[in-house]
Amino acid sequence: MRDKAVTAVFEAAKKEKRNFLYEHEAKKLFGLYGMPVTKIQVVKTEDDAVQAAKKIGFPIVLKIVSPQILHKSDAGGVIVGVKDEQGIRDGFKKIIANAKNYKADAEITGVLVQEMAPKGTEIIVGSTTDPTFGPTIMFGLGGIFVEILKDVSFRVVPIDEADAMEMMDEIKAKKILDGVRGMPPSDRKTLADILVKTSRMLEECPEVKELDMNPILAYPDGAKIVDGRVIM
Ligand code: ADP
Ligand code: MG
Repeated sequence: MRDKAVTAVFEAAKKEKRNFLYEHEAKKLFGLYGMPVTKIQVVKTEDDAVQAAKKIGFPIVLKIVSPQILHKSDAGGVIVGVKDEQGIRDGFKKIIANAKNYKADAEITGVLVQEMAPKGTEIIVGSTTDPTFGPTIMFGLGGIFVEILKDVSFRVVPIDEADAMEMMDEIKAKKILDGVRGMPPSDRKTLADILVKTSRMLEECPEVKELDMNPILAYPDGAKIVDGRVIM
């Protein structure tokens, strides 16, 4: 039986007749399944953005929240590395102006104020629903590895830790996970844990038709999901 809080995340979206979760809702969902996500707060005013940033701690990432903008950076809707209060105030205005420029009639639901995760190895975990087999899980490295080289591995849900470890071994660029050319290794145990928890979440949440954690930043010790999208 899934947590009532999980159901509440989907209910909130359904009430607004949305077929997707905003990033902060997706992260709430991932967090309920014990996955590591960035600290995050949704605000509607510049002053609240400043308060949230002070609470979370600098540096901060600001992002637009709009039902018409799912790919936020395409719309100039992501500002990373904001260092102080003035940066939050300028960034808040800039991000809203960018969104309006991108789409004049874009509704602005709010602005996300979130913890800036340190640089790490970019990982992508995704899911689509196969008409025959049901939910599937995809694993790959971020950037050109997925987008150009299509270097990914797949499994049908459910998966266990051994399956997750195999998925990481199956990609051609797996050596990058071990750390090469001055890049630090990635914590495979934590990544396997994210894959297994995603599998459980997909089993318990038939509402999820597609999901996308892009990117997850992986470190020698731990990892952080810095962007999340869910299609219902
Ligand atoms: P998009 O909707 O365009 O995919 P993202 O939320 O993925 O937007 O943000 C774009 C990029 O900004 C990410 O790929 C990542 O490199 C960086 N980024 C986003 N959020 C964070 C964060 N919390 N910490 C560090 N980097 C981030
Ligand atoms: Mg992204």
